[in-house]
Amino acid sequence: MQELTLKDLPVTLTTRSPEETEAVGAALARLLEGDKSCPTFIAMYGDLGVGKTAFVRGLASVMAPGRGVRSPTFSLVNEYRVAGKKPLFHFDMYRIESEDDLYSIGFDDYPDAGVCVAEWCEKIPFALPEVYLEVRIVKCPPEVDMRQITISIKEAPLC
Ligand code: ADP
Ligand code: MG
Repeated sequence: MQELTLKDLPVTLTTRSPEETEAVGAALARLLEGDKSCPTFIAMYGDLGVGKTAFVRGLASVMAPGRGVRSPTFSLVNEYRVAGKKPLFHFDMYRIESEDDLYSIGFDDYPDAGVCVAEWCEKIPFALPEVYLEVRIVKCPPEVDMRQITISIKEAPLC
């Protein structure tokens, strides 16, 4: 996996295994750690089983090595921390239906405290920051293990 820079975005990468998807996540984490101008909120989109959690595992392998990544399906948010690094907050928005639901997990306080990555951002269009990274993963039939991962920067239009 080549290094990613902000100038490469938007970029679409093809992977053929969960390990390759993790490697893309790890490359994005190195970009985040190395470039202060990189947005620190990652909004993820893609169907069940497409590889969002695999991608987060790659992010965490750089940002919080040694911490196990599990899907925060019931907890809604997992924190991965190691000494000397910004924490990584991993959200699963699948069960979020309203701003009140987000308020109840203290969502507003997380972006200032570390890097946020959220699965199922389809559910929270009303809560995205002004500038964020978008990661979209889609399957590529007929190959069962092939995925396309598109990473781009999204900014609220000036008006
Ligand atoms: P999600 O979080 O999007 O629901 P997971 O990361 O939990 O998805 O699971 C992805 C599943 O797809 C795993 O079973 C993984 O082994 C499989 N898989 C097959 N090919 C890939 C690939 N190229 N990238 C990511 N996962 C893949
Ligand atoms: Mg998941």
